[in-house]
Amino acid sequence: ELSKSGWLLDITKLKLGGNIGEGEFGAVYEGEYLGQQVAVKTIKCDVTAQAFLQETTVMTKLQHKNLVRLLGVMLHKGLHIVTELMTKGNLVNFLRTRGRSVVNSAQLLHFALDVCEGMEYLESKKLIHRDLAARNVLVSDDSVAKVSDFGLTKVVSKAKSDNAKLPVKWTAPEALKKEKFSTKSDVWSYGVLLWEIFSYGRQPYPKMSLKEVKEMVEGGYRMEAPEDCPPALYSLMRLCWEQEPRRRPAFNKLREKLEREAGKHSGGEGG
Ligand code: ATP
Repeated sequence: ELSKSGWLLDITKLKLGGNIGEGEFGAVYEGEYLGQQVAVKTIKCDVTAQAFLQETTVMTKLQHKNLVRLLGVMLHKGLHIVTELMTKGNLVNFLRTRGRSVVNSAQLLHFALDVCEGMEYLESKKLIHRDLAARNVLVSDDSVAKVSDFGLTKVVSKAKSDNAKLPVKWTAPEALKKEKFSTKSDVWSYGVLLWEIFSYGRQPYPKMSLKEVKEMVEGGYRMEAPEDCPPALYSLMRLCWEQEPRRRPAFNKLREKLEREAGKHSGGEGG
C-alpha cells in the first residue's frame, strides 16, 4: 500500500550526512537523495508509516513556496521523514546568531510575510497547524522562511499519551482551556511568532512561568512590544491576541496588512 502511494523512498539511494538538529522525537540529519539535498528526520515513537500516511495524505498534497516540502518517508528501524534541506536552520537560531547588526527590519518583515503566506495557504485548505512558532519555521539557502511540522503534530500527539504538553506560550487561551483549536488559534500563535521575529528570537513572556502565562493571559495580560518594533507590527500582534477568536484577523487579512507595511518601506524614497 505504502510503496504504491509513491511516498516510500528507496533507502539505498540516500547518502546520510551529519546530525543537524534534535527534534522532540529523534535526531535530524542532512543527506542527499538522488542528487537533491535533503533533511532526514527520525521518529522514535511508535507511529507506523501507514498510520503516518493515513494522517498525512493531506500533507503530501501541500505545495507552497512557504511550506517545507515533504519528499517522502523511509522505513528503517522506525520511520524517517525526508524533506527539502533548509540550510540556514530554524528561524529562532537564525535571528539569535545574526542579531540586529546583520538582519534589518525589512528582512524581519519579509520573514513575517513568508510565514503569513504559508499560513494563508494552510487556511485556504482549512488545515490547522497547532504548533506554529519560530522554532518550527526554517530558513532556506536563499533566506526564504518556510513553515515546518504541519500535519505532523496531529499524528504525533495522537501517538503520545493523551495529555500531551501544549506549547503554552504560543497556544491561544481557548485552545489551552477548551482544546478549541482553529485557524484563529493559529493566528494567535502567529502573533507570538511575530513577537519572536521582531525581538530577534527572544523567548516569549521572558521570566514568566507557564502557569503565570496561562493565568495572566487569561486575565487580559499581553506582552509589550519588542525593542524598536515598528508600531504597526505591534498593532498586528495585538489583533492576533484578541481574546475572542472571531475578532482576530484571518491570515489573508494579515497578509494584506503586512504587504501594505512592506510597500511603505520598500520604495527607498525615505521619509
Ligand atoms: P518541535 O518540538 O518543534 O516539534 P521537532 O521534534 O518537530 O521539534 P524539528 O523542529 O522538526 O523537530 O527539528 C529539529 C531541528 O532540526 C530544527 O530546529 C532545525 O534546526 C533542524 N531541522 C529540521 N528540519 C530541517 C530541515 N528540513 N532542514 C534543515 N534543518 C532542519
